[in-house]
Amino acid sequence: MAECEHLRVGREFLESVSWPFAFRQEAHDRCYCERCYPPHLGDTMNVANYTYVIPRGWTRFAVSVDEGFFNHHDVWDKWLNCYHGTSIENAKSCVEHRQLLLPNDTTMHGKKLEIREGHIKGEHYVFTTPSITYAALDYYAHTYNFQSPYNSQIYTIKVVLQCKQKPDSITVQPETVDARQQGIKICRYIPNDKLEWKTQKRSTVTIYGLLLEVKQYHVHNHSNSFQYQQIRNTQNVSYEPATISQTPSPPPFKTKVSTISNSENISLPTTEKTHREPMSKKRIALLILLVIATILPISALIFGQIYKNDCPIQPWIPRWMTIFGVLLITFKSCSDDINIGGCISGCVSCLLVFFFLGWLITGSVWVFPAKSKVQYNQYNETNYCQENLYKFTFGLLLAQYSLIGLVICCGGILALLGLCLG
Ligand SMILES: [Zn+2]
Repeated sequence: MAECEHLRVGREFLESVSWPFAFRQEAHDRCYCERCYPPHLGDTMNVANYTYVIPRGWTRFAVSVDEGFFNHHDVWDKWLNCYHGTSIENAKSCVEHRQLLLPNDTTMHGKKLEIREGHIKGEHYVFTTPSITYAALDYYAHTYNFQSPYNSQIYTIKVVLQCKQKPDSITVQPETVDARQQGIKICRYIPNDKLEWKTQKRSTVTIYGLLLEVKQYHVHNHSNSFQYQQIRNTQNVSYEPATISQTPSPPPFKTKVSTISNSENISLPTTEKTHREPMSKKRIALLILLVIATILPISALIFGQIYKNDCPIQPWIPRWMTIFGVLLITFKSCSDDINIGGCISGCVSCLLVFFFLGWLITGSVWVFPAKSKVQYNQYNETNYCQENLYKFTFGLLLAQYSLIGLVICCGGILALLGLCLG
């Protein structure tokens, strides 16, 4: 099974930012993308009597932990799971310091950490959250544009730290992005008034993973949903979680599609974000196609079987339908597996396409010439064919030719455009 794209791109990204590999523990990497963590698996888990939201769509790059510390405090079983959205620079610094530092702490490089401008004075806390959605808000988690050296594809990458936290050390408080005032529910699983955890006991939070949300870059790509876009545009944020702050933080509500300047792998397509439609036209079209792709082969198979003896004018018409149905179902399952089976399914799909074209021509030879002679009433006659069967087959053939014509036209136009644009 080929390696998941999210894992590959994440590793490339970490290399490009000189991630401290001495702290990596690849054996505990885990991907929660749709392929690696299928939809039928749970969205939440109960960890030490708290709801922990599975980071669907994210990929964990494990950070090594202090075995003695974890065994002594029974951290894996007794401590809570939480998230801390941040920048890659801060994440690196946290991992190198082995903890999230508090404001007023001095880093090992001698830098005193101050509360950022716009933050609440006297709030000397480490902030975490049990909700990946909350941690991933643009206020907390930075987004980077990254070009893969492997295929030159551009990705957007978000950064969140995955931590264990001692249960009796936390104060649970509501979100601080004014979502409640606007009547917006941030997380599907955790109420707004329990979204933020804070503590002043720095050793009660321990990092065990860096989570990256790797997405292919599109102009309309958003890290957060439509709802958060609205919050960002209309409200002032009070503060961000206090972490080591090595880089000046962007002003509140400035879209943080930042880039890393010291890496050549990272390009700068920072397009202004626009809001995402709740259900795009592309998705609806895909859904319709999916429904057709599922219903069509089954109907063809059923028609072919029901009327298998009802077309004396050309007995091969119902057989053609049956084989066509089987062919489509095989083709569909092959293209579903193409990611898994890789090359083998690819070759099979290729063969199927050729067979499919051949079968289309064969069907046309049987169906079209019969059009002038066929009648649908006297089934004892030699020129009889069951009306639904004949018309359905006829329509199917026409539809396929139209589709092929359309594909050729589109391909031609694209090729022409390509030539014009050089
Ligand atoms: Zn994956």
